[in-house]
Amino acid sequence: METKNAPILSLVIPMKNEAANIDPLFLRLFPVLRGLGLAFEVICIDDGSTDETLEKLLQQKPSCPELTVLSFSRNFGQHAAVMAGFEQAGGRWIITMDADLQNPPEEIPKLVAAFQEGYDLVGTYREGRQDPFFRKFASDMVNRLTRKISGVSLKDFGCMLRGYTSAIAKQLARQKEYRIFIPALATLYAKNPVEIPVSHAARTGGVSNYSFMKLLSLQLDLMTSLSLVPLRLLFLLGSAIAIFGISFGVLLIALRLILGATWAAQGIFTLFAVLFILIGGQFIAFGLLGEYIGRIFQEVRGHPTYVIRDVFSGNPTASFRASETESNDISPISST
Ligand code: UDP
Ligand code: MG
Repeated sequence: METKNAPILSLVIPMKNEAANIDPLFLRLFPVLRGLGLAFEVICIDDGSTDETLEKLLQQKPSCPELTVLSFSRNFGQHAAVMAGFEQAGGRWIITMDADLQNPPEEIPKLVAAFQEGYDLVGTYREGRQDPFFRKFASDMVNRLTRKISGVSLKDFGCMLRGYTSAIAKQLARQKEYRIFIPALATLYAKNPVEIPVSHAARTGGVSNYSFMKLLSLQLDLMTSLSLVPLRLLFLLGSAIAIFGISFGVLLIALRLILGATWAAQGIFTLFAVLFILIGGQFIAFGLLGEYIGRIFQEVRGHPTYVIRDVFSGNPTASFRASETESNDISPISST
């Protein structure tokens, strides 16, 4: 018998090669969820695992009526898996987490409490993060850089134990972006976000799915998620080189006039000045191309031009606060 009619809470857990973690995860997760006293569902997405992840999930199915398993045809990546979970989720509140128990399930009630307080986006930051030094250092740098260039001030973009109201999750799922970094993008739609500390543990079993190259690609997804600043840097760099070239040229002319023709070494320095000006010009041209490409990029992604937070119409009974309704619509208006 399925008991998952109208869940309030949906857990979305992407899994790639997590066979070793499924039993320990479920042993800790389900008691926590049952203890909440809310109707819930757990959606696990097998993201093209090559081990027994899917078999293990299907073994759990008979004893866990709240479990839904989605199986991808191949590996599409953690964020794509989460998006599939968002689309499937029926709960009002949706919580994502990793399958390797790095996000302790015992922290879930904290996120639920934040939802109950009225927050619609529950971000988290990892306290006492249990990852190799290189990972922590790299992610610290990326967090700083992303805060700067995106203007979104999240403490920790990387922690995937996060909560979204269904309005936000469905909006993200509708967007159908191919390369997406969910925590960063969700901030676009949040009306009342909060960030809370959660504890972090070392991976229980198996190995991390992120090689250096995959991490790099993920970080680029994060950086390009919200900003065109990297493209604009080309323009700035070009301008700086060109200004340097022009100043150098002016200096050469001045020195030539003051010190005479013998000093000028057959114009070799002048060639350098011309070179800098040309290179600068090239970068400025790249930057301009980048501007156009960036605009096309934004258009293709279809981010809303604006998101309405609340509507207060003349008639008080007709006005509504979107955050207090169970509607999935938060009125995004796509750019044309
Ligand atoms: N994951 C996934 N698809 C991938 C990579 C990762 O579904 O292509 C899942 C993985 O099973 C885990 C979560 O995403 O539940 C985080 O991955 P992992 O623990 O390997 O990353 P790390 O903690 O090392 O950053
Ligand atoms: Mg992990």
